[in-house]
Amino acid sequence: MTALQLTGGPVARRLRAETEANLTALRDRGVLPGLAVVVATDNEATLWYVRSIARAADKAGVRCTVVDLGAGAAADEIASTLARLSADEDVHGIILQTPLPPGVAGDELVAHISAAKDVDGANPLSLGRLTVGQQAFAPATARAVVEMLEHYEVPLAGRHVSVVGRSAVVGKPLLQLLLQRDATVTVCHSRSRPLERYTSEAEVVVAAVGRPGLLTGDHVRPGAVVVDVGTNVLENGDLVGDVEPLSTAEVASALTPVPGGVGTVTTALLVLHTTQAALELSEGLVPARSAGPGSSA
Ligand code: NAP
Repeated sequence: MTALQLTGGPVARRLRAETEANLTALRDRGVLPGLAVVVATDNEATLWYVRSIARAADKAGVRCTVVDLGAGAAADEIASTLARLSADEDVHGIILQTPLPPGVAGDELVAHISAAKDVDGANPLSLGRLTVGQQAFAPATARAVVEMLEHYEVPLAGRHVSVVGRSAVVGKPLLQLLLQRDATVTVCHSRSRPLERYTSEAEVVVAAVGRPGLLTGDHVRPGAVVVDVGTNVLENGDLVGDVEPLSTAEVASALTPVPGGVGTVTTALLVLHTTQAALELSEGLVPARSAGPGSSA
């Protein structure tokens, strides 16, 4: 069997059409949507990703500002930047890009992103709301996985999905999105041994780890659909996923490529979410104020 390539391009195009419709409504209201990406690293893969977000925003007509605080930024400085952006009426979407400087805890800082502007679902309030089925922005990567599966009409209800990785940005929110679609979900992590015991039973396998070649054809059952979220930059500069494509394509029925798969959809979603946030804020549906720790916004 040679797996079908499930590319992100057609999915991103459909999302861009939604963005266009939102932009038309925003233009009628005189609102120019703005996205701010806060960066505190010199990690090359991260900077590459941030540039791709900025390009996607620019192409769509969404103003994107990269706030580069440098790899030595202190937690206080990052927190005050997030609070300032949360209160800035010209900013409708805020992303705090990881990794952060050593010793800086991101899970506390993301609480400084206003929930109304939390277009990458990083504030714990967003994950909490998602978990109980309330309206919230899901982290774009988790939603991108579901958008890919739905676009390519991969059935989820009653199916077993094995998600490898349990981070707050991918594995955990993806669990919620899959449960909402009536999938039966196994979430694996570094202590799930042997990994193939949990992945080879599943009809859909999602790899979100950050280790090139972690999943091979031996990890998946014949005919499975495999979604590769991993983005790893090799020493030679190549971008690869977590899935070893050749052996996996021999066994799986479909596989998302890296690059050109989930990442393409993720950036399109960040731009879409920003226009949605701008619409909701301009309608006064949500308060624009900062949602620092202890706030209920
Ligand atoms: P992360 O926070 O480092 O989490 C990695 C997860 O993988 C953890 O849950 C970890 O388990 C698990 N893990 C590590 N080694 C494992 C092993 N040998 N077997 C099974 N599980 C293992 O990473 P992340 O932020 O979720 O990102 C994951 C990958 O997705 C990275 O490659 C990242 O670059 C990529 N990514 C892509 C996009 C996109 O748009 N395409 C967006 C975001 C991230 P423990 O919890 O036990 O440590």
